[in-house]
Amino acid sequence: MLRIGLTGGIGSGKSTVARVFELLGIPVYYADDRAKRLMNEDEELKKEIRSLFGEAAYTDGNLNRKWLASVVFNDSEKLSRLNQVVHPATIRDAGNWMKMQTSPYVIKEAALLFESGAQKDLDQVIGVFAPTPLRIQRVMKRDHVTREEVMARMNRQIEEDIKMRLCDHIITNNEQEMVIPQVISLHQQLLARARE
Ligand code: ATP
Repeated sequence: MLRIGLTGGIGSGKSTVARVFELLGIPVYYADDRAKRLMNEDEELKKEIRSLFGEAAYTDGNLNRKWLASVVFNDSEKLSRLNQVVHPATIRDAGNWMKMQTSPYVIKEAALLFESGAQKDLDQVIGVFAPTPLRIQRVMKRDHVTREEVMARMNRQIEEDIKMRLCDHIITNNEQEMVIPQVISLHQQLLARARE
């Protein structure tokens, strides 16, 4: 079974593209959603977060998400320490999830695929590309946030062109080229590759 990564900058349309693969019957692991769940459910990870941030990180076993977000928001050192425990836990969980799948290939969708080192466990990576102004507009509309808030999030990710150069395949989601034919063509290539 091939393990395929799917990444792209904030607002590039990763989740939208991932849903098209799901419609084609391909199982998708959504790393950001799973990471959020693991922070509440994975006892080992919870222990690590408590030892980094103290007992205040949890109330009655539930993550104080807002509090933790405020702690790491303007402190890149603390954010990096949090990522250093959350990313390995997510990579472990994705590995277990993949073992349970039976399709010719599976997809792991993650914003910080390269930043977290997750690509080391994957066979190929698909990048979703969209121009920055369009990504900003999409996220402002989707999340009801300001341009500055979107830019702050973007600044925590590696440069889009560097990210795209690291990918094996690119899907262009610029609202000019059609996405579904690109996904279908890639799906066929990946099925053929999985059969090799
Ligand atoms: P994030 O990294 O923030 O999770 P993402 O890369 O997963 O973002 P999506 O959530 O898939 O991006 O897309 C961002 C927004 O843009 C969504 O509201 C989505 O519906 C919209 N969008 C994505 N692609 C298109 C498209 N081709 N045409 C119109 N709207 C789109």
